[in-house]
Amino acid sequence: MIFKSINPYTTEIIAEHELLTDSQLNQKLAQAEKAFKYWRTTTFAERAEKMKNLATVLRNKQNELGLLITNEMGKILQEGIDEVGKSAANCDFYAEKAEEMLQDHFHDTPFKSMSVYDPMGAVFAIMPWNYPFWQVLRYAAPAIMAGNVSILKHAPNVIGCAKAIEEAFLEAGFPEGVFQQITIDIPQVEKVIASDIVSGITLTGSEMAGSSVAALAGKHIKKTVMELGGSDAFIILDDADIEKAATVATQSRMLNAGQACICAKRFIVTEKVANAFAALFAEKISRLTQGNPLDTTIAMGPLARLDLAEKLSHQLEKSLEQGAKLVLGGSRENCNFQPTLIDFVDANNIAFQEETFGPLATLIRAKDEKDAIAIANNHRYGLASSLWTEDRDNAYKVARQIEAGNVFVNSLVRSDSRIPFGGIKKSGYGRELSDVGIKEFMNVKSVIIE
Ligand code: NDP
Repeated sequence: MIFKSINPYTTEIIAEHELLTDSQLNQKLAQAEKAFKYWRTTTFAERAEKMKNLATVLRNKQNELGLLITNEMGKILQEGIDEVGKSAANCDFYAEKAEEMLQDHFHDTPFKSMSVYDPMGAVFAIMPWNYPFWQVLRYAAPAIMAGNVSILKHAPNVIGCAKAIEEAFLEAGFPEGVFQQITIDIPQVEKVIASDIVSGITLTGSEMAGSSVAALAGKHIKKTVMELGGSDAFIILDDADIEKAATVATQSRMLNAGQACICAKRFIVTEKVANAFAALFAEKISRLTQGNPLDTTIAMGPLARLDLAEKLSHQLEKSLEQGAKLVLGGSRENCNFQPTLIDFVDANNIAFQEETFGPLATLIRAKDEKDAIAIANNHRYGLASSLWTEDRDNAYKVARQIEAGNVFVNSLVRSDSRIPFGGIKKSGYGRELSDVGIKEFMNVKSVIIE
């Protein structure tokens, strides 16, 4: 069996990748075990030197790797190049901060007691295609700086990216086995989870994938971090700067052709400013150009796979049948889905209830602030949200009422190495990034010395 990398814009097959046999997979697991025995004994300084090298390797190849991302999953070239740059910056961040984050922590007891952070083994990562570099370096840089090793199962359509990341680790001087990518299909996943060298599993992807992997991890008593879907609320209150809100709303929904877990998906606007906001939002979306992702003048490329584009078309059709009003867009040619805005959506509509993974913006009209908060919270997802108001004191109070892992006031939701990132409810659990993320796959060992 093979996985094919298909350029979603040209539909051309770029590469084919053979899957590992069970015995090849066993060798990879043994290699991870061997690498961990050595890697856990290295100092932070030794790890940091290699992690800095990795940042340099990524930057030196930034354009080439950006192009690989674009060819495999269709995002516009500049977004691919920026993604590689952001991944390199995350390597620098953890190279500089890991030692400080993982210092021994002393407790207030009459005897000497402390918590120390020990690495635990291999972190098994199951990753999606939408940010094929960032999502990998986001977990791998902290895990490896902490003394763990890593095994990556990437999405089948971005195996070229997975191989390029592994090569970059080797070029940076990491010993073999510290970071490995494995080309495997779902039936082989349990074998990896069950392996003694795997101490934890991190998954970014859909709710279904998360539920299935978390169940397997539970069976084998392995810790998990789940970064799953979202239907993030973008809440615009009466006193918002609606011009700025509409600009950021467009960016937030349409970046990466709408294929990000933290893309705003439900735009909840209070009655008083709803018409004005809707007009501005429609005008800004109508200016977006779509086409060949290598064309530097366009704003958006195709969706990553035909089945994803078809699913979005189905969601749009059904939402219109259920009473939503099409304001603009709505057409699709293969993977190219036109930037689309629908209005007058309510909580019974499919576009409200399901994650819409593409350039489909959904406008929901709320009576007032209280109603807007209730609509935002009336969802099984709780990843992030964005709140727009000029009253900063009230913003804090409203932010505390929103059921989400992150609330950004008057700005775009984004992940940042310095700030914990993750969701609640069906958006998952656990955190990535910052000092919180690096501690997810550590043994917090208490040492008491009388
Ligand atoms: P998936 O969640 O199916 O894929 C993400 C990763 O999980 C891939 O590596 C995939 O591998 C793996 N995976 C899926 N099912 C299992 C399983 N049972 N056991 C182990 N690994 C598994 O996403 P899709 O690419 O199919 O996209 C479908 C929808 O998921 C999107 O429309 C979107 O709504 C959502 N999604 C959300 C993302 C986010 O960042 N929140 C990212 C990607 C998708 P394989 O492909 O081999 O199954």
